Amino acid sequence: MRALIAGSGPTGLILGAALARRGHQVTSVDRDPGPTGDAWIRRGVMQFEHAHGFRPQVPMTLQAEWPAALNTWRKLGAHPVEAPNPAGSRQVVGVLSRRSTFERALRHAAEQQAGLTLRTGHVDGLVVDRGQVTGVRIDGSLVEADLVVDASGRSGRLGRSSAPDSGPDLDGDCGLAYVDRTYRLRPGAEPGPMVSPIAYMADFDGYQCLVFLHEAGHFSVVLVRPTADTALKALRFEAAFETACRAIPALAEWTHPDRAQPTSAVLVGGALRNVYRRQVGTPGLVAVGDSVATTTPTRGRGIAMACMQVIALLGLLDAGSDPATIAEPFGAWCDHHIEPWVADHIAIDGGMVRRWQGDDLDLSRPLTTDLIAAAVEADPRIGQHAGGYFAMTALPETLRPAEPLARAVYQAGWRPAYAPGPTRDELVDAIRVAVPAA
Ligand SMILES: Cc1cc2nc3c(=O)[nH]c(=O)nc-3n(C[C@H](O)[C@H](O)[C@H](O)COP(=O)(O)OP(=O)(O)OC[C@H]3O[C@@H](n4cnc5c(N)ncnc54)[C@H](O)[C@@H]3O)c2cc1C
Repeated sequence: MRALIAGSGPTGLILGAALARRGHQVTSVDRDPGPTGDAWIRRGVMQFEHAHGFRPQVPMTLQAEWPAALNTWRKLGAHPVEAPNPAGSRQVVGVLSRRSTFERALRHAAEQQAGLTLRTGHVDGLVVDRGQVTGVRIDGSLVEADLVVDASGRSGRLGRSSAPDSGPDLDGDCGLAYVDRTYRLRPGAEPGPMVSPIAYMADFDGYQCLVFLHEAGHFSVVLVRPTADTALKALRFEAAFETACRAIPALAEWTHPDRAQPTSAVLVGGALRNVYRRQVGTPGLVAVGDSVATTTPTRGRGIAMACMQVIALLGLLDAGSDPATIAEPFGAWCDHHIEPWVADHIAIDGGMVRRWQGDDLDLSRPLTTDLIAAAVEADPRIGQHAGGYFAMTALPETLRPAEPLARAVYQAGWRPAYAPGPTRDELVDAIRVAVPAA
């Protein structure tokens, strides 16, 4: 089969390499020519420089489908983290790496992959003959293919109408905005406080903080606020960001100048949406990765969801599905296994923003999964339902049976405690002193 993949991001390259390893003739096209030495400006892929956490689905997919890329990633410093599982053995729970290191590893391995051709160019649109996609136009020239894969990311629109009423099937503004900054631990310095083997994550009264540990002592500090909270927008200024880091005890430990030094400016995250798009349905075309679904980044689900999709698509092809009509069974799989994560995020984000703005829980409505899971602290029986949800090995609905337990906890007046640190109002006062004009 001749496969043409639009987009050489993580999804395009992992799928492309896996198809090439099965003997298919694969071309992956990206408008981005790739790195030149240390420099790599990923125009249109703003997340390239932003904090990333890597769930176990990512190394597991590479191990199964493209071990050379996993080896390259490790050689570039990526560090898989293991932890004990309930059965008493150890398992990988994540990988410490910067996103840029991950993409460099994939690009490097792709250049070596037999059967996979990397091409630089802009995919302008599809070529359709009698209702079937037969290729694409790249910078004006025609390239034929038996299967065209749209792996062009969150702005991917291949084959989709631009009519105003033809938007995504699910679409919710996260209501959250964030800024982050990268640092590196000084030689010999230990990481600061963690709440999991790969990250620190805490909710405060009106905002949220995350720290992702990456490879070789690199780490990212992320501050998340409701988009509507314009006073906290000032966190994009370096003086305000650093003031916040001094004021929040856990961040003060992580970023203390004796422990770490900044390696980037403060990076402002772009608009974030929870989006799910069904397959277009034109034979010869299939969409995968972020062009199908995007979710709020704070739970680090994006690349894991892309990997899950790649594995599902390959499974269908391996089982003999016709590539020309593969979007049909694959779309049904995505509707069942991917859409619920987007719907979950829309519900979680909406509730979180309302609570940050001072509302109490609305116990007349179904509890969102984050609230059900949080109540495990008050009722450990909830834990037996939560493991698969946290690991993304079971769908959000698997937490539903624990809802009555969680509801009882909240009805008795229990609420998740905020982490020790300034309230939103105190943080605003502190950063106003640092950046009076903001
Ligand atoms: C701020 C932020 C933080 C995130 N944090 C995490 C995290 O912690 N963990 C996690 O798992 N996920 C995270 N994600 C999600 C993750 O980054 C995405 O899921 C991932 O990038 C999806 O890969 P992709 O290959 O599908 O799309 P992309 O990475 O967007 O790649 C698409 C590629 O297509 C190319 N392209 C687009 N249009 C064309 C065209 N017309 N012609 C040619 N080429 C084209 C682009 O240049 C790009 O290289 C985060 C996302 C954001 C925005």
